[in-house]
Amino acid sequence: MMRAFWMGAAALALAVPVSAQTLRGEVQAQMPSLMAIYDDLHANPELSFMEVRSAGILAAEARKLGFEVTEKVGGTGVVAVMKNGPGPIVMVRADMDALPVTEQTGLPGASKVRVTTAEGVETGVMHACGHDTHMAAWVGVARLMAANKDKWSGTLVMIGQPAEERGAGARMMLEDGLYTRFPKPEYVLAFHDAAQFPAGMIGYAPGYALANVDSVDILVKGVGGHGAYPQTTKDPIVLASRIVGALQTLVSREISPLDSAVVTVGSFHAGAKHNIISDEARLQLTVRSYTDAVRDHLLDGIARIAKGEAIAAGMPEDRMPVVTVQKDEYTPATFNTPEFTEDMATFLKTSFGETRVVKVPPVMGGEDFGRFARADKDIKSLIIWVGGVPQAEFDAAKKEGRTLPSLHSPFWAPDAPAVISTATEALTAMAMKLMGQR
Ligand SMILES: [Zn+2]
Ligand SMILES: [Zn+2]
Repeated sequence: MMRAFWMGAAALALAVPVSAQTLRGEVQAQMPSLMAIYDDLHANPELSFMEVRSAGILAAEARKLGFEVTEKVGGTGVVAVMKNGPGPIVMVRADMDALPVTEQTGLPGASKVRVTTAEGVETGVMHACGHDTHMAAWVGVARLMAANKDKWSGTLVMIGQPAEERGAGARMMLEDGLYTRFPKPEYVLAFHDAAQFPAGMIGYAPGYALANVDSVDILVKGVGGHGAYPQTTKDPIVLASRIVGALQTLVSREISPLDSAVVTVGSFHAGAKHNIISDEARLQLTVRSYTDAVRDHLLDGIARIAKGEAIAAGMPEDRMPVVTVQKDEYTPATFNTPEFTEDMATFLKTSFGETRVVKVPPVMGGEDFGRFARADKDIKSLIIWVGGVPQAEFDAAKKEGRTLPSLHSPFWAPDAPAVISTATEALTAMAMKLMGQR
């Protein structure tokens, strides 16, 4: 049923330019093989930093097609380069990691993989973010670009990136010489499957598309003691509660209502027993924004509020809260170069139609793809969304007022054929357009 998605496309073909029709036909011819790759990747997901088997599949596919392939770039990263005459350098990226989520879709191809994480927790593993669709489409793009070498001129750099979910992989690849050991791109392209759009829809957000994401830890120190004699203590639970309350004013009172920001305290731990005043409390925050200025304001404000509340509570100087920003897990905002994004969207509309290519608002989720353009201001960058919700399911949920599973849900089951075929065609078409399709 789901795989019949593209059969309907033939009916629309009349309005579509000939070159796009040809490309669409080539994508369809690849689909059985790309779905076999997807099914394999889906059943064998690997956590961040452990994407060895997945990387091996991408590397082997690219090598067969004549790409120059380098493995183990920034951990398990793959870089595949195809030099095809003079012209622009275009990079296409897929991320490869899965999540510590136990799949509950009940589908025949569901992941049964279980691992013990570096932290010692036993967990199921699932491609709950759909990076398996990203890798399958990556192979599709590599095949179509190789098969159509006579139609473009330039250098294609295709990368398989590790550890997106930990906000680390893009940085690790850049630090390992992605732009010095290999041709540095003028354009970077990617897609992400989307759990909020119907299958096969393409969403684009010019400008900020995804947020700055920071993880912040606050260790609130106190002076412990007996619950019956609070006057002999400095209660860290009361202090930490005041800090949590005061943090709510950062976004509501200090950031312009026209800017976007989130400060969420996602974890609050303290104490062990009814009648003991603990000597510490621990808070974990996720902090989100788009601009660097707002980000700086939030991070400075968190430190200021934590310290200010501790002073107000009469905490001695040597018991001030310790605020730690997790530098390694920082994900900078993803910014789609506005004019470039509009141009590409206009181009995609010629083959996919106005109704399938839709401008969408930015989200406060994070994605480390933004790092590839931040590394050099001249690089033009675009990540598109490709809808993955089976149309019937989307319509039914809308009618019944039901919330659909989001990305990272154990129930996320994208219409993989629609996502992979749409993404393969869209990324290939854009790469060929940039490298001067004749
Ligand atoms: Zn994710
Ligand atoms: Zn993702």
